[in-house]
Amino acid sequence: MKTSITFISFIIFFLLFSSQLNSNRANQTNLDFTKDKIIRLDKPFVIPTYNVNDRQEDCKKIEEKIRNQEIILKAYQDMQLLEYADKNGLDYEEYDKAVDELAKWIKSGKPYEPNKLSNEQVENFFNSTTPSGDGSTTTLVMITRPEDGSIWAPDGTIGSDGYPVMAMIIDAHGNKTIEYSGIEQMYGNKYGNTVGKTFFESGIAHEKVHSEQFKNEGVNNSPGQHRRFEMAAYEKGIEVLKRKLEELECDKVLGSIEYNHKIDFDYEAFSQTVTITGSVPFKLEESAEGTQGKQKVKGKGTVNLSLIWTAEDCVGRSDSPGEIEFEGEIINENEEKFIDIKFDEKWYQNAELTVTCPEVTKSVPMKIPPPVKYENMKFKFKDGEKITRPFAGMGGNGNYSWTLHLVE
Ligand SMILES: [Zn+2]
Repeated sequence: MKTSITFISFIIFFLLFSSQLNSNRANQTNLDFTKDKIIRLDKPFVIPTYNVNDRQEDCKKIEEKIRNQEIILKAYQDMQLLEYADKNGLDYEEYDKAVDELAKWIKSGKPYEPNKLSNEQVENFFNSTTPSGDGSTTTLVMITRPEDGSIWAPDGTIGSDGYPVMAMIIDAHGNKTIEYSGIEQMYGNKYGNTVGKTFFESGIAHEKVHSEQFKNEGVNNSPGQHRRFEMAAYEKGIEVLKRKLEELECDKVLGSIEYNHKIDFDYEAFSQTVTITGSVPFKLEESAEGTQGKQKVKGKGTVNLSLIWTAEDCVGRSDSPGEIEFEGEIINENEEKFIDIKFDEKWYQNAELTVTCPEVTKSVPMKIPPPVKYENMKFKFKDGEKITRPFAGMGGNGNYSWTLHLVE
């Protein structure tokens, strides 16, 4: 079994390192090795994992943003609004308000065909008295200053005038200012890390288009120029959102395997706990559909490998990523659906173990070859299905555990 290799490496490590420990603490006589210490250190880590349902939620939020922005783009594209504004000598703000109204109209699902609005509808959009925007003073809306092309965003506070306080995030030369990362973080706090970062980047992409437009052309406040500027900017912003959606593979992810392996090694002289936790998404393999009713799946992702090591009054720990790849197929047996997965887990890599003793702290490189290669792991095709394999022997004790999660 491969477990023995793992274990031997622990032993080798222990033997190598314990001689150093002993020499470092030769003047100490009291070996204060208590069980309490191990228990205290043995708390499970809280590791942020990106599970498949969080991912799916993020996908939905990004999709909704794309839908909304595409509607705004569509409203700008309508020529009738522009013609009306030009004919009546209106400025870009009056035009923009009508675009807003048309966007609301399309969003509400009312029938709309480009450039086929009645004259009455067009007039109504221009004469609407509903306030623009969503009426909130805290929405995260970025702006670009026409004077110098600098990009500004609300810093999350409201000024004495009741309006959001704006902070410059990109200066007139296109450089990020000190506020930049703070405001990006604010987006993360509001929408969650993945979505927040994506919305922020999309907003920046939109504003950067304006920044260039203002620098190259200046502004004349005409509806025609405003329309052209906004269309180009929305296209760029939407591009960023779509790229992220593709990266998340939102439409292909079927589910994930949640890892929860935990093995304790306990000896008189030292103790070690290895945990492997995280969530690895899998998706349907394209083009592999239809062979005898089997559908192949492929999983790929990163888990966290943690190691806590204690010896006498020294403790060491490391956290390192492990790359997981697996293959499987969905099978039907007696009208029941299963997913059969072949795990071949590789994370042969160096972990950096920081070992702390009363009088010395050391960083020690350590190879971790985890002992997992399992075939014929057949889960019922049902959310929450779990397979557990015990680990015992060599002084170690614990479980390997895999839980199937399906996209809701
Ligand atoms: Zn814009």
